[in-house]
Amino acid sequence: MIRERDGIHIDAGEKFVADSRKALGDVNIASHAHMDHAFQAEGKIVASDLTRRLLESRLDRELNLNEHPDVKLIDSGHILGSTAALIESDGKRILYTGDVSTRDRAYIEGFEPVNADILISESTYGIPAYSLPPQEQIENNIKAWIEETEAPFLFGYSLGKAQKIQWLAHQVTDKPLIAHGAVMKMNKVVEEHTDLSFDALPYGENKDMLENGAGIFIGPTRFAKSDALNELVKASNGVKAGFSGWGMTEKYKYRGGYDQVFPFSDHCGFDDLVEMVRAVNPEKVYTHHGFDSEFASYLKREEGINARALKENQASLTDF
Ligand SMILES: [Zn+2]
Ligand SMILES: [Zn+2]
Repeated sequence: MIRERDGIHIDAGEKFVADSRKALGDVNIASHAHMDHAFQAEGKIVASDLTRRLLESRLDRELNLNEHPDVKLIDSGHILGSTAALIESDGKRILYTGDVSTRDRAYIEGFEPVNADILISESTYGIPAYSLPPQEQIENNIKAWIEETEAPFLFGYSLGKAQKIQWLAHQVTDKPLIAHGAVMKMNKVVEEHTDLSFDALPYGENKDMLENGAGIFIGPTRFAKSDALNELVKASNGVKAGFSGWGMTEKYKYRGGYDQVFPFSDHCGFDDLVEMVRAVNPEKVYTHHGFDSEFASYLKREEGINARALKENQASLTDF
């Protein structure tokens, strides 16, 4: 039995619960340190050591790692420390992707699919409109734009996207990066636990550098619409850029108030998802997140794969 409640619940002899906030299983799995599925309960988690440490910093509490002989963690290429989980139970291989990207991007390597009987896949960009351009092209465009723009203001999710954008900026410019507090905090955590360093200066004390175009701003997406920030953008003739797979449509640019959008994503684009499913070659696919029903329909129709969105039904391990 596989279903989506608080997290993904997989009853396979033992009860495995992945990416829940509160719900406890016999075994709890945490795929990565994004807050939308951060483990808040007491108890041990199966997770990568880096995910545990990032979560500890974000939640400001200690977490204990667990291991399980039937659960294998595989780098999922989403953010640093992120893992997919391969669960072997009753001779079946169940692969839970968590948030996933198969692309090598900036400093992170993409997920390498493994074979499984049952695939539980995220489907954030599960419609063809979100087929992303080649990664090299996206990153070259970003670098060229940063290089030629006098006062760039860059926005992305504070853990993951923001660090990759800073890394790309460092490839093409010596201008100092001026980071919003939320990004500074995540930079610090990542720098503590990896070999990466972003050399960013805090925004609060360095606004003047932005006003005269001497620095590059980097901040979380939600800050792009702040009034104070926008006054600064105006004063410095700044240009605002957003970085997201959602940028494949004009809506994202408009809603975010960006001048420029790059479809740099930490998730699989549509084509990437289809390719991943083919590589995993499962008997059954469960989709969740984003265009879940659409992606399941596509897999059934175009790929002849038994697929369904998790939210639609309680799905049984034995119903195929
Ligand atoms: Zn995530
Ligand atoms: Zn997520």
